[in-house]
Amino acid sequence: MARNRFAFFRGEIRPVEEAKISVMTSAFNYGTGVFEGIRAFWNAEEQELFVFRMREHYARLLRSASVLLIDLPYGVDDLCRITLELLRREEFREDVYIRPVAFKASEEIGVRLHGLASDIAIFAVPFKAYLPEGGIRAMVSSWRRVEDNAIPARAKITGAYVNSALAKTEAYLAGFDEAIVLNEDGQVAEGSAENIFLVRDGVLITPPVTANILEGITRDTVITLARDLGIPVAERPVDRTELYLAEEVFLTGTAAGLAPVVEIDRRTVGTGKPGPVFTRLHELYERLVRGKEPRYRAWCTPVYSSPAR
Ligand code: PMP
Repeated sequence: MARNRFAFFRGEIRPVEEAKISVMTSAFNYGTGVFEGIRAFWNAEEQELFVFRMREHYARLLRSASVLLIDLPYGVDDLCRITLELLRREEFREDVYIRPVAFKASEEIGVRLHGLASDIAIFAVPFKAYLPEGGIRAMVSSWRRVEDNAIPARAKITGAYVNSALAKTEAYLAGFDEAIVLNEDGQVAEGSAENIFLVRDGVLITPPVTANILEGITRDTVITLARDLGIPVAERPVDRTELYLAEEVFLTGTAAGLAPVVEIDRRTVGTGKPGPVFTRLHELYERLVRGKEPRYRAWCTPVYSSPAR
């Protein structure tokens, strides 16, 4: 697989070999960073790479950063410009995953947020499917989701991903593809790195933003598409057993895209095959991220023919 050659680091696009932090870096020791996952999709007919909802991702990054008192000398426009420049330097002609990470960069001992220098790095790598295709087998994790008053899931904090990693590996070692994590109230929060949707009686249901979830951009995309298609949507608390009784369950995320769940805790979901609501949304999503749906084209920023060039 082709690799990346560059990274944005310490204010410049440099060879990726030069983009290194110290073992003493505060964020490496304490998990005090915030990050994003953004994707860009290759459209072969147009010979163009489209970055999906880039502004929304950088707006979320800056919101996450403000929670950790990470001050950056860049706004959303700057970060979008830098990202487009990085992708052009890489000359990617395939799907890629973009990883910005803003962090406490001071090299000193002491757990705190105040009085430390901040920095941001951005790199992008070629990327294919994150989850197995055709249907996910999931388990409800024995690990609970981090609480807003412990480590806010709403801010995409590097250290909080220990929680996701524990859940994901527990599921993997038990022979499943993915974990579904409950919050401390015992209600469904999300997957290890995806939001979750259910279909019951034709209504598309997803836990509310107050359920200790990441406020996913794919989640927002799916809610928007469902409303545009006339599918009723409810954001409300979800019980564990509703997962077993749903007609359909699927996960959403930048890396995962829309991924159908066909089995949970060894119970077959619906017919055991991707359902009709999922299929409709998935087909539309796969087209629109590549700029193939005029109605949603504003979500896609072209890399090579961008007017900002
Ligand atoms: N929840 C968690 C915990 C995640 O890490 C992600 C991936 N960023 C998501 C949900 C999905 O969010 P998005 O659609 O913005 O990628």
